[in-house]
Amino acid sequence: MSETVKYLLDESRLPKFWYNIAADLPKPMDPPLHPGTGQPLGPDDLAPLFPMALIAQEVSTEREIEIPDPVREVYRLWRPSPLYRARNLEKALDTPAHIYYKYEGVSPSGSHKPNTAVAQAFYNAQEGVKKLSTETGAGQWGSSLAFASAHFGLEVLVYMVKVSYHQKPYRRVLMETYGAKCLASPTDTTNAGRAVLERDPDSPGSLGIAISEAVEVAATHDDTKYALGSVLNHVLLHQTVIGQEAMAQMEMAGEYPDVVIGCAGGGSNFAGLAFPFIGEGLRGGRKVRAVAVEPAACPTMTRGRYAYDFGDTEHLTPLVKMHTLGHTFMPPGFHAGGLRYHGMAPLVSHLVELGEVTPVAVHQNPSFEAGVTFARAEGIVPAPESTHAVRAAIDEALDAREKGEARVILFNLSGHGFLDLSAYEDYFAGRLEDRDYDPEALEEALKALPEIS
Ligand SMILES: *Cc1c(COP(=O)(O)O)cnc(C)c1O
Repeated sequence: MSETVKYLLDESRLPKFWYNIAADLPKPMDPPLHPGTGQPLGPDDLAPLFPMALIAQEVSTEREIEIPDPVREVYRLWRPSPLYRARNLEKALDTPAHIYYKYEGVSPSGSHKPNTAVAQAFYNAQEGVKKLSTETGAGQWGSSLAFASAHFGLEVLVYMVKVSYHQKPYRRVLMETYGAKCLASPTDTTNAGRAVLERDPDSPGSLGIAISEAVEVAATHDDTKYALGSVLNHVLLHQTVIGQEAMAQMEMAGEYPDVVIGCAGGGSNFAGLAFPFIGEGLRGGRKVRAVAVEPAACPTMTRGRYAYDFGDTEHLTPLVKMHTLGHTFMPPGFHAGGLRYHGMAPLVSHLVELGEVTPVAVHQNPSFEAGVTFARAEGIVPAPESTHAVRAAIDEALDAREKGEARVILFNLSGHGFLDLSAYEDYFAGRLEDRDYDPEALEEALKALPEIS
């Protein structure tokens, strides 16, 4: 018999603040540096790109940052999101482990990304910005920002990685439905895009190139600012509503996780779930094992270097200290587009260095296999990115079975896969390759890291 165990929070329990882990770090972060001078950035350096409220959050060390009421009002459309105990998956795996998952696919765009998109759109609108420029890979971020901006009356210009623009037309249509304009990057509308096209007219694009284009547009237009969907401190901050809700829901379940798991592209959904739990441990409370799961084809944390690097290909973004494969690294194609980025959030990277976060890398076939097992047991089809977290959660449950351990596992199901069913089709047809990154290309890319003394 099938069993559904769901923990719902009343709307009154929607978090009133975001949790800032910078307040609890045993060692402070290395500062971001100016791309031209190599000197630490001041707030004025970022002012062309971001509204002041977000710049303040980027450098804040205050533990609790209040969520403005208009943001909570939009969150109420789908938050608090449900937490489930995966009883049917536990049975299918015949494991003594208890598996819980927080489901972020209930948002309008189907992933966790609106948690920050709504906040970013709000602060920009509040400071009189008229238009936002951004990049998107598979389209999850672009559609989330388009949704959020429609609420606050902002125009949105999205540079979408060209290969995805053609492969994933439905997310582009979703962006257009919310009123955004979407271009296939590299374009000839920016110096950055033209420079890439000159070098390689058939460039399939990359997130790094699309970021260059979007940043250039914001830097050269007074009424336009830039929005990033992951990596930055303020983005991770906004995602902590996930973990705070999950803490309350785990309490309802009468359990505390031994291990907390999230897939990691730029690190935001992982951080959103894990940081409130890690913070508890950093303040002397209960410790969890936090596992960040990256794709083996783009193994930023497990194979990259911890170093200062650019966020984009054209050297327009600040230099940040992070795990990186090098900003010139071109990951091989694979289906979890949202995980295909050369860098990792500086906060997540820092916590990996401190031993508070354990990175693991998994291939896409075993991830899709886990996604299918999950869908058949629990009913929800995970996004290709999320299947990486499902894989790690299932591996934990199987390890617990082996050891006869009643382990409590919590993972973030960051989104649903309804707009990625072609990836599942490829998986069923045996068309997915588990490609490894090219070690020589990685070595070359690491040589191109900027030298910081
Ligand atoms: C974008 C995306 C990710 C990866 O981004 P993070 O910043 O690492 O969370 C993961 N899952 C889904 C569903 C996404 O849309």
